[in-house]
Amino acid sequence: DDKLSLANMEEDVVKSYPICMRNLHEGLRKDHHLKHWGRLQYGLFIKAAGLSLEEALLFWRSEFTKKMDLDKFEKQYAYNVRHSYGKEGKRADYTPYSCMKIITTNQPGPGDFHGCPFKHSDNDILKRRLQNYKIPNDSIKEILDLAKQQHYQIACSRYFEVTHKLPNGVTMINHPNQYFDESKKFLS
Ligand code: SF4
Repeated sequence: DDKLSLANMEEDVVKSYPICMRNLHEGLRKDHHLKHWGRLQYGLFIKAAGLSLEEALLFWRSEFTKKMDLDKFEKQYAYNVRHSYGKEGKRADYTPYSCMKIITTNQPGPGDFHGCPFKHSDNDILKRRLQNYKIPNDSIKEILDLAKQQHYQIACSRYFEVTHKLPNGVTMINHPNQYFDESKKFLS
């Protein structure tokens, strides 16, 4: 199945998530919380990746209630999850964010996990992350150089190619959900 579901989520995080969404996922697992822009960036991504409303509620609830009462979660957060699926309030259009939007708006601050790591992480942190993700050293150098030259989406495309064992230059990433969909298609 090419869609995201809770059953295969952890595997997809490793194999098919772009690094921005993996960062949000790992941040959420670590802090059992995400701030406003993180919830939006990640929430709209998992929705567009195919997670149902029921599964999304289960997912957020299971993490957030590790640190807060169920009652507080239901009052303060569940509504927004339903809202983003168009089940509450005015049926606003919640389009998942493109790379351009993530790169150019809502700069992350301390304690935030949203944004694009190729733009917003400092070099050492990005390097350590790529090492943790088992990217070969020569590719890490290439990706860091691209990020330093502000070619964030090319750095991301290169990361996609390396992690999917594709030749250099065959991919152009411009949306996190495009990344996910192409990965799932490629791996299926
Ligand atoms: Fe995410 Fe786009 Fe940045 Fe890649 S280039 S990490 S998909 S925001």
